[in-house]
Amino acid sequence: MKETDRLLFNKAVFNRPDDSNKGTLGSLLCICGSYGMAGAAIMAGKAALRCGIGLLKIAVPKSIYPVCATNILESVYYPLEETSNGVISSKNTDFLLEMCEKSSAVLIGCGLSVCDDTKNLVQSVITNCEKPLVIDADALNCICNKPEILKNLKAPAIITPHPGEMARLLHSTPKTVNSNRENTAIDFAKKFGVVTVLKGAGTIIASPDGEVYINHTGNSGMATGGSGDVLSGIIGSLLAQGASPINAAAAGVFLHGTIGDLAAEKLGKISMLPTDMIDMIPTAYLKLM
Ligand code: AMP
Ligand code: MG
Repeated sequence: MKETDRLLFNKAVFNRPDDSNKGTLGSLLCICGSYGMAGAAIMAGKAALRCGIGLLKIAVPKSIYPVCATNILESVYYPLEETSNGVISSKNTDFLLEMCEKSSAVLIGCGLSVCDDTKNLVQSVITNCEKPLVIDADALNCICNKPEILKNLKAPAIITPHPGEMARLLHSTPKTVNSNRENTAIDFAKKFGVVTVLKGAGTIIASPDGEVYINHTGNSGMATGGSGDVLSGIIGSLLAQGASPINAAAAGVFLHGTIGDLAAEKLGKISMLPTDMIDMIPTAYLKLM
């Protein structure tokens, strides 16, 4: 492990004081999932819990509530009114903003789906939310027609695009994004004022004020659907526990790659799954703390 990685991990991961209770360790609200993509909400939520969050709250369309509740017993759920295609309806916007205020941080986007109604929901939630945000996946796809809204957020935000999502935000192509990954992330972070995590082998993490990291952990066994949801849950958890956005993002990416490497050692790159990575989070903490 590089010393910078250890330092970053130490900056973002806090010891649990003996007198901790679930109210002192941060609460993360996940606005995730849609009919057909329940797993994204489950993986993000489970990863967040394994990283030490005090309280997890998951807002999902009510049709997927049963499978989510069966898979994560520890979470509080908000089963929400949904559109005819099983997506969280924008009628829930005011309620969700109230729930954001009662949380330490908010993760929005994993498995959310994209439709006109969700675009309205996502745009209202991220522009009015006053708690630190992680914006991933379909929440990014929901704002790619007007990424400028990122410039006027009320709270600090981290975006976690893969090259395809970054290309949509920039009206570019994944090939162009990948041809200049470092500068793409640095420029986006500066221009839009958000911590930018450009994913892929050698993930780049850039802050609006010019702090930049390149991650060295992880492997091709992580190239399986669901891997990014695990990362968002990890970063959301660290953010909700009080890490600064750049430290939560950089340490979260490092930890995510570490659990990818541990899963590959145990199960091999071909067979390992994102859920196996979540199972490695405790081992990673025991090794790194
Ligand atoms: P997503 O595409 O949103 O599911 O995210 C995939 C996650 O897995 C990101 O955190 C990527 O950085 C990581 N990942 C995918 N492929 C590789 C690879 N070949 N090496 C290292 N990390 C990878
Ligand atoms: Mg993803």
